[in-house]
Amino acid sequence: MLTKEKNVQLSIVVPCYNEEPNIDYLFERLISVLDPLEITYEIVCVNDGSKDNTLNLLVEYHQRNPAIKVVNFSRNFGKEIALTAGIDYTTGDAVIPIDADLQDPPELIVELIAKWREGYDVVYATRRSRQGESWVKKFTAQSFYRIIQGLTSVKIPPDTGDFRLMDRKVVEALKQLPETNRFMKGLFSWVGYQQTSILYDRDPRFKGQTKWNYWKLWNFAIEGITAFSSKPLKIWSYIGILISLISFIYAGFLVIRTLILGTDVPGYASLIVAILFLGGMQLLSLGILGEYLGRIHYEVKRRPLYLVRESYGFKNQTTRSE
Ligand code: UDP
Ligand code: MG
Repeated sequence: MLTKEKNVQLSIVVPCYNEEPNIDYLFERLISVLDPLEITYEIVCVNDGSKDNTLNLLVEYHQRNPAIKVVNFSRNFGKEIALTAGIDYTTGDAVIPIDADLQDPPELIVELIAKWREGYDVVYATRRSRQGESWVKKFTAQSFYRIIQGLTSVKIPPDTGDFRLMDRKVVEALKQLPETNRFMKGLFSWVGYQQTSILYDRDPRFKGQTKWNYWKLWNFAIEGITAFSSKPLKIWSYIGILISLISFIYAGFLVIRTLILGTDVPGYASLIVAILFLGGMQLLSLGILGEYLGRIHYEVKRRPLYLVRESYGFKNQTTRSE
């Protein structure tokens, strides 16, 4: 179905980074789900600086089907930013971000829309199982959700990716959030609105490799925690108070002991332990300060979130093909 004159009812956002082997199958499945729904839709693909043939493939699809639109970044900006850009470019009454690797089954869109029509503003899809993922990944993911939930009051649903339906009013709310640090899972939850979830089984990646490794995931986790909680900053005052208290008591104990038993020279072990312990604590707290400071540094620069080299299929935008 074309999107020419009529208002777009549904916008799908697909961030794509080196997804060449998945594109054909992605559109085949997406379109076989969307066409029978009889709604006007657009598919906004963000090419996040792919090094393979992804862009050309996407543009070919756009030329055959104008409902497929393409935003081409000037370089790789990362998935969170690609999602933000895709969402910025949409015009639909509802927006659904979906991964290009078909880990989020497009067939679920039908259910998401049904819930939306019931009146919910956000319908997120929670994974019942994670197929094709190692126990280390599952364990670390689970710990992450537990830690972040303990540290922040924003309810971030566990095992929920970016695959969800958002009403236009939620999208407009999201667009108002100015931060450079786009921890989308957190931002999606922060805006609130009437939310509900459906369960699904997450499939393994169709083709290609995941772009995440543990180092990236670790940084992503720190990104999320620092963006949504300042507790790690505050904890140091309490640890400081606790340590001063303990040292004060210990000092009292030493004075009394010296008064009763006289001076004794040994004490090297306790000294070195105290010094190392305090040194470690200080470095750790400095590190945490650094994490926050670094992010403040990023935010104050007010750089644009992303740069678009060209786009295909949007009105009032620079385009090579139009
Ligand atoms: N992606 C992106 N930019 C990046 C990395 C990933 O746009 O720098 C896209 C990727 O093309 C895919 C989605 O984000 O559509 C999820 O990536 P991936 O499958 O690697 O992540 P995982 O499913 O393993 O969390
Ligand atoms: Mg994936």
